[in-house]
Amino acid sequence: MNFVIYKLRFLLGNAIGFLLFFFVGKNILLKKINSNNIVSIYFHNPSLKVFEKIIKWLKKNEFNIISITEFQKSFSQKRCVSKRTVFISFDDAWLGNINLLHILDKYSVPIMLFVPTQALKDGDIWINIVRKNFKKIEKTEKLGLRIKDLKTIPNSKAVELYEIALTKSKVKRMIMSKEKLIKLSKWVSIGSHSVTHPILVNCTDDVIKYEMQKSYSILKSWQLNLHEVFAYPNGSYNTNVISIIKNSCYKYAFTTKPKIIELDTDNNSYTIPRICIPDHFGMYENLARMSGIWSRFFKNI
Ligand SMILES: [Zn+2]
Repeated sequence: MNFVIYKLRFLLGNAIGFLLFFFVGKNILLKKINSNNIVSIYFHNPSLKVFEKIIKWLKKNEFNIISITEFQKSFSQKRCVSKRTVFISFDDAWLGNINLLHILDKYSVPIMLFVPTQALKDGDIWINIVRKNFKKIEKTEKLGLRIKDLKTIPNSKAVELYEIALTKSKVKRMIMSKEKLIKLSKWVSIGSHSVTHPILVNCTDDVIKYEMQKSYSILKSWQLNLHEVFAYPNGSYNTNVISIIKNSCYKYAFTTKPKIIELDTDNNSYTIPRICIPDHFGMYENLARMSGIWSRFFKNI
């Protein structure tokens, strides 16, 4: 995004966020939620500013930030110990997450990190590697596909493009290395985000099973603070993916369905909602998102 467009998007989002938060969201987060709710939010690679502001706001407003172990307990008992509860997770193990360590330490914030093991090896996620090298891939391989088709093509074709893209240029490391993850694991809980971060609904059953089992066994062999918890890559799942994960080692799976968890009704442990907090937008937009009100107006923005 060029700088002027980004700045305009930032200001507009924050102005709309301000209105949504003050007229609706604030009431939801500070008055309506109770021990039947968990505000489940997730980040990718937030700036220090975005992340610290959210943590400060949560602490100031007496939110109890819970670990995955406390989350599982509250989820199974359908009740939290506190009136205001938040659960924080991060997807993909971005290298920049390491810079947030002092914030986690300063405010005693437990987080869960969902890790795609192959991306740690490659230094980036397959779809980003393909996007960055898309122009260099031969037309005979692309078969008329465009970048925006990458999330809907069969996984076998996606793998082909990824393997070609890997040969086109050296990958700039965006995702942390295995060694960095092992160090970080002392402070955070780890869950699986598959091996290769595929769009699971585009995969065969065998690939789905492999992605789930193999990532768990790799993370286990690295002796991390590992939990039997999964986050669907790209938030993408269907009834078939759920029927497979139910027979796997995982007891919980997080989606990207943007709503506050209601423990009485959101009782399927394989479709747990999570609200995305983008990397670089303004605080009021983030608060509006966190309250769930943003996504009622803007579905995919
Ligand atoms: Zn991801």
